[in-house]
Amino acid sequence: YDAATATVLPTIYERTTAAAMTHGGINLGQGFPDADGPQWLREAAAEAISTNAGPTNQYSPGPGFPWFREAVAAHQRRFYGVELDPQDQVLHTTGATEAIAATILAFAPAGSEVLAFEPFYDSYGAIAALAGAELKTVPLRAPEFRPDIAALEAAVTERTSMILVNSPHNPTGAVFTREELEAIVGIAAAGGAVVMSDEVYEHLMLDDAAGHSTILSIPGADQVAVAIGSAGKSFSVTGWKVGWVTGSARLVNQVRGVKQFTTFCTGGAYQYAVAQGLQDDRGFFAQNQAELRAGRDLLAAGLAEAGLRVFSPDAGYFVLADVRGVTPKTAAEFAAELVSAAGVGAIPVSSLTLPSTQHNPEDELNYLLRFAFCKRHDVLADAIGRLSDWL
Ligand code: PMP
Ligand code: GLN
Repeated sequence: YDAATATVLPTIYERTTAAAMTHGGINLGQGFPDADGPQWLREAAAEAISTNAGPTNQYSPGPGFPWFREAVAAHQRRFYGVELDPQDQVLHTTGATEAIAATILAFAPAGSEVLAFEPFYDSYGAIAALAGAELKTVPLRAPEFRPDIAALEAAVTERTSMILVNSPHNPTGAVFTREELEAIVGIAAAGGAVVMSDEVYEHLMLDDAAGHSTILSIPGADQVAVAIGSAGKSFSVTGWKVGWVTGSARLVNQVRGVKQFTTFCTGGAYQYAVAQGLQDDRGFFAQNQAELRAGRDLLAAGLAEAGLRVFSPDAGYFVLADVRGVTPKTAAEFAAELVSAAGVGAIPVSSLTLPSTQHNPEDELNYLLRFAFCKRHDVLADAIGRLSDWL
C-alpha cells in the first residue's frame, strides 16, 4: 500500500511470479507447492460439486456449513485439546487472507496502532493501512528470530488496538514457544489489545523439538485472542482458499460482522473436502512434512555451498539466506538480477518490512532473501545449479 498516492500496489508475490515467468525461470518466490494435495481430498471436492453433497452448490451459511465448523472444532480438540462451540466459536473464511482482513478491520479502529513482529506477512501492513491504523513493529532478528518480548511490552501505548502474531512464522520459520505466547497474551490483556494469531503453517512443522501451540491453548487467551488457520498450506491446495477463525463467541462474532460484507460466503465444495481432511488427514501431514524437510535440507545445502549464509527454519515453506557472502548489493537488488540473469525468483525480506527498515542500510533484513522449498526436488536442484553457475 502506497500511502503517498493512496493506491494498493501489486504484491511482491505477483511481481516475482511474473518476472520468473517472463524469464522462463524457476519460481522460488511465492510460497505454493508444485505437488497438489492428496487425490482423495480432491475427489471429495469434485464429488461435492457433481452430486451437490452438502448441499454445496448454492450459498453456504455465512459462518460456514455446520459440518465444516464441527470439523474445525474437532481438529482443534484433537491437536491442541482446545474446546470450541462450533456454533459460535468457529467462522469459515475465504482463506486466511480474508480472516486476516476481517479480523484487523474488526479490531483496529482508524487512528489506532497495530503491533506486529518484523518481518511480517505483507497483508498485515496493507489491511492495517486500509483500516486507517498504523502498523508498528517489533524486531525478529537473525540467527534465531525470537520475538523480543521486552520490546513488545515497551511498544504498547494507549493507542494499541492489536498485536499480530504469526507462528510458525513467515518468512523466518520461527516457532514461538508457549512461554513467549503466554507473555504476549499477558501483554495484550494488560494493554487492552486483541491478539490475532496467524497459524496457517501449523502442520508444516519440520523440527520435532519446536512444538507448535495454538494461542487458544494458552490460559486466558480466549478473552483476548483469535486464531486463524488455513487448509491451503496444511493440505497443499493453496488455490482453494479455505480458512477459519476460532476464539471466544464475542470476538468471533465481531469478525463475522465484517466477513458478512467482504464475501458473505464462499467455496462450499472446498469446505466439504477440507472438513473430511480435518477429521482424518490419512497420514498426509506427516508425509508432507517429510518431503518438505528433505526439500529444506537440499535447498539449504545448495545455497550454503553457493556462498550464502543460510538460516534453516523449524517450520514452513521458506529458507532465508544472507546475500552478503556473495554480493555487496541489497537482497532486493540481488533478487532482481537473480531472476533476470539466472532465472530464479526469490523474495527479498525487505518486502515484508516497514519503509523505515528498508531505508536503513545497516539493517540485516535488507540482505536476506527468501527461497521457497515446497517444490519438487529436481526443481530445487535445477535452481541451485542456475544460481551457482551464475555466481
Ligand atoms: N498468513 C501467512 C503467514 C501466509 O504465509 C499466507 C500465505 N500462504 C496467508 C496468511 C494466506 O493464506 P491463504 O492462502 O489461506 O489466504
Ligand atoms: N503466502 C504466500 C507467500 O508468502 C503467498 C500468498 C500470496 O501470493 N498472496 O509466499
